[in-house]
Amino acid sequence: MTLSFDPEAVDLPSGHFIGGELVTANGRIGLRRPSDGADYADCPIAEPDVVDRAVETAQKALASSGWGSCIPRDRTRAMHRWADLMEAEAPALARLEAVSSTRPIAHLIAGDIAVTAEQIRFFAEMADKECSDLVPTQDGAMGMTVSEPYGVIGAITPWNFPISMAGWKLGPALAAGNAVVMKPSEMTPFSTVRLAQLAVEAGIPAGLFNVLLGDGPVTGNAITGHPGIRKVSFTGSTAAGAAIMENAARTGIRPVTLELGGKSPQVVFADADLELAANAIVRGILANAGQACVAGSRVIVEASVAEQFAGMLIERLPQIRPGPTWDADTDYSPIISERQIARIEAIVGDAIAQGAEVRCGAERLDRPGYFYAPTLLTGVDNDNPASQAEIFGPVLTLQTFTTEEEGVAMADHPTYGLAAGLFTRDLSRGLRVMRQLQAGTVWINRYGRSRDHILPTGGYKSSGIGKDLGREAFHANRRSKTVLIDIARPE
Ligand code: NAD
Repeated sequence: MTLSFDPEAVDLPSGHFIGGELVTANGRIGLRRPSDGADYADCPIAEPDVVDRAVETAQKALASSGWGSCIPRDRTRAMHRWADLMEAEAPALARLEAVSSTRPIAHLIAGDIAVTAEQIRFFAEMADKECSDLVPTQDGAMGMTVSEPYGVIGAITPWNFPISMAGWKLGPALAAGNAVVMKPSEMTPFSTVRLAQLAVEAGIPAGLFNVLLGDGPVTGNAITGHPGIRKVSFTGSTAAGAAIMENAARTGIRPVTLELGGKSPQVVFADADLELAANAIVRGILANAGQACVAGSRVIVEASVAEQFAGMLIERLPQIRPGPTWDADTDYSPIISERQIARIEAIVGDAIAQGAEVRCGAERLDRPGYFYAPTLLTGVDNDNPASQAEIFGPVLTLQTFTTEEEGVAMADHPTYGLAAGLFTRDLSRGLRVMRQLQAGTVWINRYGRSRDHILPTGGYKSSGIGKDLGREAFHANRRSKTVLIDIARPE
């Protein structure tokens, strides 16, 4: 069976999903398909009264279902069934996502959905491994810290990997016994609604996972500032993260987890396996056409091999299979919107005006939709716009260094610290440089995540606060209550 499909034939779920039901909605944002630029749907906007309704529904569902206080294994079982349904429904779920997003159908099925289902199982298995602590106290007393869920968590996700990003939030939040009110990006709303329908079909009580469609200023703002939201979990741009942190504090203090932007360096030493480094760097920047938070967009290479390495990148970068996301053979993604591709063009234009040399790309692909050619710019310094801004497109800059200290200094970005790559055959240098890189994740002799859900992800500096994935994400979805009991025999 081919995975290719007709985008016109996909039935899109319309409306918010509250208390286990689709709710028709007001307010419309017109949507265009990134693959061909066609108008195809509208996204509703949940106003504050709808947000109130969703939060109240989640609170009631928590109270009536006992989700946070049940035998934890019951949560585990329901979440396993949910993961099974995701896999069983993968083609239909992938079609909903491929219509609106930049994710090719084949990547969604083999990657995003398969990995998300496994990751839901990983967190499901954590539900009954969490223990409260009996702690040493003074004689005649007994002390405990009791681990409890927060209640209703507000989660907001971006458009670049809609199902995966939803999974990062939902797995730990639900396994830890919370309810969730989630807002996907207004550009890619539909697959998250289907995830919520599948959760109910799997036996996760209705009302525990609600989806509100809408934009940031109206719906997102109403969620992050809602007094009934006990914790906010956000993935998106640094600018929106800052606004959310402020808003979340304004109406009552609550914790925020922020997974934000990046401008990640790839430091290549002359002794590295250059073939391996070039392949990893090209794969890293071409994934989702550079629309990945961890896109390793700044290549920083030792001067003695710089020209050779630039040649290796120039040879590999154009080897792409662009196409609509609904074509099974597509391997190279469109850019999400006209606005975003125009932004890429503007930054590359400014970079060239400030001295950058185009070694390949730096233009749109001549085809329908919003496709940008893989691009390599050399002759840039750390002040060039292309090495400063998070471009969120398939654009690499290449800078050179002569000493280890200089390479490390160049890798340091004034704002971002999400991820970094490091290529060398010298183990001591690899570990030494790893310690100096100011990034939440360092990949050595590879670039990109594995399928090990135990490894957390998160940023240093303005790239974020807290972690998604790993044990840390589960623990971040619970809080601890201190208990002290007097047990001394009365005098
Ligand atoms: P964005 O910040 O524009 O939007 C993300 C989400 O936040 C959307 O759902 C949007 O509607 C909502 N939003 C925007 N402003 C808001 C506000 N004031 N209050 C509440 N909600 C608001 O980001 P984007 O363009 O959708 O995604 C790209 C960005 O996401 C990039 O910067 C990328 O690096 C980042 N990202 C980070 C990670 C990570 O793990 N660190 C992962 C994926 C994407």
